[in-house]
Amino acid sequence: MSLIVQKFGGTSVGDIERIELVAKKVAAFCAKGDDVVVVVSAMSGETNRLMALAHEIQERPLPRELDVLLSTGEQVTTALLSMALNKQGVKAKSYTGAQVRILTDNAHTKARIREIDSDRLIGDLKEGYVLVVAGFQGVDEGGNITTLGRGGSDTTAVALAAALKADECQIYTDVDGVYTTDPRMVDGARRLSKITFEEMLEMASMGSKVLQIRAVEFAGKYNVPLRVLHSFKDGPGTLISMENDSAMETPTIAGIAFNRDEAKLTIEGAPDVPGVAYQILGPIGEANIEVDVIVQNVSHDSTVDFTFTVGRDDLARAEEVLNQIANEIGAGKVTSDSKIAKVSVVGVGMRSHAGVASQMFAALGEVGINILMITTSEIKISVIVEEKFLELAVRALHSSFGLEKDPKDENTD
Ligand code: ADP
Ligand code: ASP
Ligand code: MG
Repeated sequence: MSLIVQKFGGTSVGDIERIELVAKKVAAFCAKGDDVVVVVSAMSGETNRLMALAHEIQERPLPRELDVLLSTGEQVTTALLSMALNKQGVKAKSYTGAQVRILTDNAHTKARIREIDSDRLIGDLKEGYVLVVAGFQGVDEGGNITTLGRGGSDTTAVALAAALKADECQIYTDVDGVYTTDPRMVDGARRLSKITFEEMLEMASMGSKVLQIRAVEFAGKYNVPLRVLHSFKDGPGTLISMENDSAMETPTIAGIAFNRDEAKLTIEGAPDVPGVAYQILGPIGEANIEVDVIVQNVSHDSTVDFTFTVGRDDLARAEEVLNQIANEIGAGKVTSDSKIAKVSVVGVGMRSHAGVASQMFAALGEVGINILMITTSEIKISVIVEEKFLELAVRALHSSFGLEKDPKDENTD
């Protein structure tokens, strides 16, 4: 008998028919004697719908109120799934994040889980209940409802699995595992039977939304066995493996991630003096705006052009702050571009294989794509390109690094 945490994403609970199918699936695990905790997302499109309602009233609603609103999506699904389980003769109880007491910090709309009070859940499990917990939400010390950022139900699931010391955390979604790149963009993308935790962390942080980055962080920190599976098709899915395979067996590149959510800002003609980077980026950080890629070009007239990227949602605010800084430090004009995208190749094999960067640049050059910015880490190389070239870039890299599936390969392990 094992304890399993199963998370079902928005599409998998998108209508009543699917909710009943999920209930059937959960009931089958219970029939085997497993204890099951289910984490659900809002029905597909619901979080966006709620967000749009809020924006009909205010451009920037208070984050506290936004959280109260957005958290309702998941609450609806918990009740519906519990009812569907009850209908099948399975004892089930629904819980909101606050009811469980998933304690978070108070960073509304992007809160981090601090602690989970698992006593109540353990009590219910002992009494034979399936627990259906609302993903994506928690409560802060002051009793305010918080949400964990888009895709946050993954994190709820992994955090619950860690708190309950579950045998496995299964993330059920609308694809049958983690692929070499988003299978919706590249037809020839191949399912990976295993990906290392480190690689998954980079893929998620570079934009592969199949798992929320915090979920992967949690899994790594608390050693939670994590698997991504299709909600309605049987198959082994993808195991996020905690051990690194030996370099001999490791392919150089595990996958390609991309992200359209960035925008780039440039401040021209800033004085080339010590401390100028801090003068520019300090206030951006204080405004709670995260900076990603940074490039500084020194020109011959003792000034620097300073370019960096931020999340697209933060662009307007970043521009405001930057214009003010430009005034204060006597820099030139501030320009911005939101039609950019970031493409990253990720693989632990990079550590032992030289030449990945040159292969990447060659592949992009061959299809006529200009690289606007470059950034690297030990197991990842990212480039910023014009958004209109994104798809071409991903396809060119996928093929250059030999990631396509063999047409004969049925994707079985
Ligand atoms: P859910 O609603 O179940 O949480 P998401 O839409 O958040 O599902 O995540 C699943 C989606 O992630 C897939 O439909 C796919 O388009 C996308 N995706 C992006 N990169 C990858 C990848 N490398 N492997 C698999 N899916 C990916
Ligand atoms: N419903 C939330 C979202 O759409 C959380 C999730 O699905 O994980 O982002
Ligand atoms: Mg998701």
